[in-house]
Amino acid sequence: MEHLKVETIFELMAEQGNAPSREDKDLIIKAYLFAEKAHEGQKRQSGDPYFLHVFETAKNLARYGMDASTIAAGLMHDTIEDCDVSEETMEQEFGKDILFMVNGVTKLGKLKYRGRERHVESLRKFFVAMAEDFRVIMIKLSDRLHNLQTLQYVKPEKQKRIALEALEVYAPLAARLGIAKLKGELEDAAFPFAYPKEYAKVKEMLRSKTEIRTGQLEKIKDSLEEAIKKQNVPLVKLSARTKHLYSLWRKLERYNDDIEKIHDIMALRVIVPTVEDCYRVLGIVHSLWKPLPERIKDYIALPKLNGYQSLHTTIFTKEGGIAEIQIRTPEMHGIAEYGIASHYAYKQSEENNVSHNVAQKFAWIAQLHELQKAINNPTKFMENLKMDFFQDRIFVFTPKADVIDLPEDSSPVDFAYAIHSDIGDQAGSVKINGKMSPMNTKLKNGDIVEIIIKKGGHPSSKWLDHTKTALARKHIRQYLDENSLLNKYLFNRFK
Ligand code: MN
Repeated sequence: MEHLKVETIFELMAEQGNAPSREDKDLIIKAYLFAEKAHEGQKRQSGDPYFLHVFETAKNLARYGMDASTIAAGLMHDTIEDCDVSEETMEQEFGKDILFMVNGVTKLGKLKYRGRERHVESLRKFFVAMAEDFRVIMIKLSDRLHNLQTLQYVKPEKQKRIALEALEVYAPLAARLGIAKLKGELEDAAFPFAYPKEYAKVKEMLRSKTEIRTGQLEKIKDSLEEAIKKQNVPLVKLSARTKHLYSLWRKLERYNDDIEKIHDIMALRVIVPTVEDCYRVLGIVHSLWKPLPERIKDYIALPKLNGYQSLHTTIFTKEGGIAEIQIRTPEMHGIAEYGIASHYAYKQSEENNVSHNVAQKFAWIAQLHELQKAINNPTKFMENLKMDFFQDRIFVFTPKADVIDLPEDSSPVDFAYAIHSDIGDQAGSVKINGKMSPMNTKLKNGDIVEIIIKKGGHPSSKWLDHTKTALARKHIRQYLDENSLLNKYLFNRFK
């Protein structure tokens, strides 16, 4: 497999300022060979060797600045589930940490999406609760991204479900982690399959629009570059970016499909070394073009909640058009595109001086904002994220892998009523994780719960001692009330 070169992964790591050490390379090569052997002979629906999928997943992880052990786990993420690899072998060969990550991804793979609104929220929460580790989420999202990019090979009836799942569960998670680049890629890969008509429409609108814009933008870019050089401001990068299609569609919906009202379809992005340089460039821009007053935004002094920092301004071009210009430092760009992942990468290579400086800057920024404090500490970040999503809920599975969201300390009776009142009323016994268990067992996160119906069975007053949900208690009381009335009636009648 000539095109699946392990060096590609090393190059992507280096591009992210995360150049692999000798040990990193050895680990990744070992995982590469291990996965290649494990998936030998397996094919994807596209006809490609299965190994291609795990290789692409690992490439995504490298692009998002993840470290060598996460990339190694990414290469092997399907080996326990789909191959004959045992947990013991993996632990022996790669250690506890990598086994933990692979197991984490395998567990997440059991989740299914049924497209009910309440359920989506549960799924999102459950995903975070079960992932336990930021790296596991990153592997899962990287895996999803490749699956979405090869969705044309999946049966049509499955395509829409998978695409919607990505838009409603995975992309919001990437956004919540501040990884805008990954969010955009997930959305754009899913968009054509989730909403084909809308996708075609937006693509056509954008095409006619960008044809006019590109020329104008090139002119602005040239003038700005010249002016920046004249003022001796060091320039790291000046580039044009087009808005992601899916986010453009969502924005169009808010503006009644009036594309003229959307000013950031194409934007110029200026990256300069320091905060001071950012403000100098803003001055240069405003001396060249007239800004739209209400659209000058200083997210450096006032960062967005997700930690995003930049200066934004929208200007009138000499041709009467409108263009947005975003100005930021390389560190701000890192946070904007890679969120918590950018910091994760920096932390991994602390011996590197440049990165160390970045880490110090992060520490300074962190004082500005509560969430950025969390970005500085991935473990703490996960804890906060979980508290946010998780609170005092638990998430358990039906045997068909539907997720049921319950309060802590719920029992199988609560579970049964959460599925259907008939199942609750006739709940006879319960299997938890395949084992017969008492009806007053306290359920735990991740339990697989199977209620066994007893035909003609009915609620017992004892159930009230171990039910947590209002729904279950309502049904039990209702039964008991009706039943005692009936008893009284019968008793009086035959007296
Ligand atoms: Mn996979």
